Amino acid sequence: MEKDVFCKIVDGEIPCYKLFEDEDVLAFLDISQVTKGHALVIPKKHYDTFLSTPDKLMHKVMDVAQRIGQISIQFLGAKGVNILTNCYEAAGQTVKHFHVHVIPRYEGHDGFELEMKSNVEGLNLPVIAETIKNNL
Ligand code: 5GP
Repeated sequence: MEKDVFCKIVDGEIPCYKLFEDEDVLAFLDISQVTKGHALVIPKKHYDTFLSTPDKLMHKVMDVAQRIGQISIQFLGAKGVNILTNCYEAAGQTVKHFHVHVIPRYEGHDGFELEMKSNVEGLNLPVIAETIKNNL
């Protein structure tokens, strides 16, 4: 199977601006900076998405994402941070290797648009809630 771009970064075949590395996790700057300091945190071992990553490893990735988010505020001048992971193409995932985006947010129009507004009407919320609850 053809290696994805993040496996190539892990293996040193593609360069990156490395921020953190241990035996399980790698963090580096996103090549396409949505805002200043936009970082990616990945497990070194390949898993397709957040949803398919074993929980202990997923927690390690999130720990590093949290730390980079804190540092963005303390040292880059960010006023907020979006922590985002796209799961599958339908959600906008382009690289099929679990990654967490850490996107520092700055005052004013900082380049990142994320608007969450209600777009659907007539949903049966009791049925939806039951479906999720009963399968947890
Ligand atoms: P997705 O859309 O899958 O959530 O995000 C994939 C991200 O990977 C994009 O933001 C894209 O800029 C980043 N990316 C893709 N190829 C490379 C690369 O070769 N190096 C780095 N540092 N980032 C990459």
